[in-house]
Parts: sequence; structure tokens; C-alpha cells
Amino acid sequence: MNEDLVRELALLKELGYTHLDLSVVGSRLSVVGSDEVVANAPDVATAIAEPTNAPALFVTPNNQQPATDNAEFEELRSRALACTACRLAGTRTNVVFGVGDPNADLMFIGEAPGRDEDLKGEPFVGRAGQLLTDIIKAMKLTREQVYIANVIKCRPPENRNPEPDEMDECRPFIQRQVELIQPKVIVTLGKFGLQSLTGKGYSISAVRGQWLEYRGIKLMPTFHPAYLLRTPAAKKDVWTDMKKVMTELGINF
Ligand code: URA
Repeated sequence: MNEDLVRELALLKELGYTHLDLSVVGSRLSVVGSDEVVANAPDVATAIAEPTNAPALFVTPNNQQPATDNAEFEELRSRALACTACRLAGTRTNVVFGVGDPNADLMFIGEAPGRDEDLKGEPFVGRAGQLLTDIIKAMKLTREQVYIANVIKCRPPENRNPEPDEMDECRPFIQRQVELIQPKVIVTLGKFGLQSLTGKGYSISAVRGQWLEYRGIKLMPTFHPAYLLRTPAAKKDVWTDMKKVMTELGINF
């Protein structure tokens, strides 16, 4: 079994898919189980066995992502890539604008690029990003089918928290991305994504898992994948939240 598959299976188990009995039928993975969650086994198998026939993940840096045919979106990307509005412009390697389908129904919004993202120009490609990718796959989606962005487009040095003025300078980019993409659902990852997008001082533990609204769009606040790496027990909470999102988008689980 390859490493990706092993990791995804481990996550599925943590999310509640227990008693997985795996066997390979031809080139496909078959999952059989006896408890209630695994009653959806064929769907789980599909989610993990054929995550994508789209381009391989983590190959194309966002900055080199082919332009979409949406002129307004490309104009926004160009402005972001050239932005020098705050001090982070002086230390970044790449502006991390966002990646995915600009017509996506689902948008994930995180905090700020880390080292891996800064080097690659693509959001969520480090360890936390790998976990986010696994969560997306568990939702029977691919990274290419959703849109992933951060409220801060340039890496804060040493991954420090973004300063309020940096969030203020950068906020118009994420707000315009949301306006152009018009997703059906936004999932904010962690406190900064939620607070910076909405401009409100929400406490993540108080509102996590509850539907909020941002400019008429349903917004589900959940924990950041980096927090889940430190606190694996919270993965179940995130999966509860993602099931609400799946229901809203008409995806069976
Ligand atoms: N954390 C984030 O919030 N965004 C990234 O792109 C990577 C890690």
C-alpha cells in the first residue's frame, strides 16, 4: 500500500470509519465493514481509491497556475502578486494567492502561508496542508474541485501571527476572491481566517461547528489543521463540521 493511502486510511479511522477490511479487487481498493459507518463502504472506497484523475497534487506552484478565463479573477491575482502594501512583501519568496476552481461551491480559508507554502507559492502544501487534503478527500472532493486560500497572502517571518495592520491590508484580496468565486459554503480554518474575513472578534471554540453567514454565504468555522496535528482528538469535531458542509452541498456520507 502506498504512503498516501496508508495516511488516508489512518485519517478515516480517526474520523470514525472503524473496522476497515481492505482488499484489492483488480486495480481498485475495496472496503468492507460491519458497523453503521462502514455501511457506506463503496463510497469510502471511491473517496480513497480514486481521489483524482486531475493533475498530481503539489506539482504546479500557484504563481504558475494557468490563468483562468475570468478576467476579473486574473486582474486580482496580478494585483496580489505585485502587492507591496505591507512589510511582509519584503520577506516573502512567493505571494500565495490561492488555488483550485474559481467557480467552486466550497471554499476553504486559512490563515497565512508557512515555509512550504512560501517556497511553492501554493496554500496548504506542508504537513497541515496534507491533513487538509485528506479531509477534502474524505469529503469525496479533490483540491481541484474546491478553492483554497488564506486571509494573508505572504508568509509572516518565522510563522509569527499576522499583525492587525497586515490583516487590514490583505483583507480586500480574500474578500474580493469570495465575491468573485461566490461559493455556496465557506469553511474557515482556525481563528485568524474567521476573524480576518469577517472583521469580527469571534472565539473559535465558541462558534466552531455553528453555521454563520458572511455576505449571504453560509460559513462554517472549524479548527485549523495545524491544531489537529497537535490535538488529534479534535479531528472528530472537524469531521462533524464537515458532514454538515457535505449535507449542505448535497454530498452523501
Ligand atoms: N496554514 C495556513 O493557514 N495556511 C497555509 O497555507 C498553510 C498553513
